[in-house]
Amino acid sequence: MHKGKKLYEGKAKIIYEGQERGTAIQHFKDDATAFNNLKKSKIEGKGVLNNRISEHILNNLNQIGIKTHLLKRINMREQLIMLVKIIPLEFIVRNIATGSLTKRLGITDGTILDGPLIEYSYKNDELGDPLVAKEHIVAFGWATKDELNKIKSISLRINDFMLGMFRAIGIKLVDFKLEFGRLEIDGKKEIILADEISPDTCRLWDMVSEKKLDKDRFRKDLGNVIQAYQEVAHRLKILPEESNISEIKFSKPTAIHLKKK
Ligand code: 5GP
Repeated sequence: MHKGKKLYEGKAKIIYEGQERGTAIQHFKDDATAFNNLKKSKIEGKGVLNNRISEHILNNLNQIGIKTHLLKRINMREQLIMLVKIIPLEFIVRNIATGSLTKRLGITDGTILDGPLIEYSYKNDELGDPLVAKEHIVAFGWATKDELNKIKSISLRINDFMLGMFRAIGIKLVDFKLEFGRLEIDGKKEIILADEISPDTCRLWDMVSEKKLDKDRFRKDLGNVIQAYQEVAHRLKILPEESNISEIKFSKPTAIHLKKK
């Protein structure tokens, strides 16, 4: 598929103009960054795996009636998506306290929350994506009260769905980040799930051992990053047992020994 001009380059993805108006091509890079770009690396094969995992999850969400920007996966690294106006907020959904929440509030790491907790961050690299209150969001016009209510209810449905999906493959969904955009469909303004859902944007722990199967392996130098992403893809049955994806060297899927925490 012909790619148009580059519209945006982020830390892990590039967005190109699509062939048809209103569409774009989302390209998944192997680049990994953490701590607001202070830590950077290339993890060979990460883009390919995130493309497949995100496609799988967004397709499933589409099937349960959640509107997403995904039209179809085009190849190993690219997806055709609808071009939406991104709301400049990150919506963090948490089931278990860890990461910035525990640091910020002194909560014991691993505390199971009574119910899902939603936090809002203002997407701004220079400011380090600061946590904001609903009142800030409305006051500065980043989203309306009505949009926030809609997004909250969509986020909770996504959480319910993903908790079950991951539980079925022996994974705890600890927390994740969502982004949304606005789109006018048949004259009606819609809120659309945008961006990716992958081990880059979720915390995923093995149900039994609590081994981390997500980007924290990179953030915390735990090693075997790609093997962990691969493990998630195999458990989701996205990759065949004997993968013939030649671009990355897949080790035998079940023989993954992650380093001890
Ligand atoms: P925390 O706020 O604890 O660092 O992150 C909470 C969850 O949101 C984690 O699953 C983390 O991966 C995700 N998250 C938060 N901000 C970002 C971000 O800027 N980029 C990515 N890829 N994930 C994020």
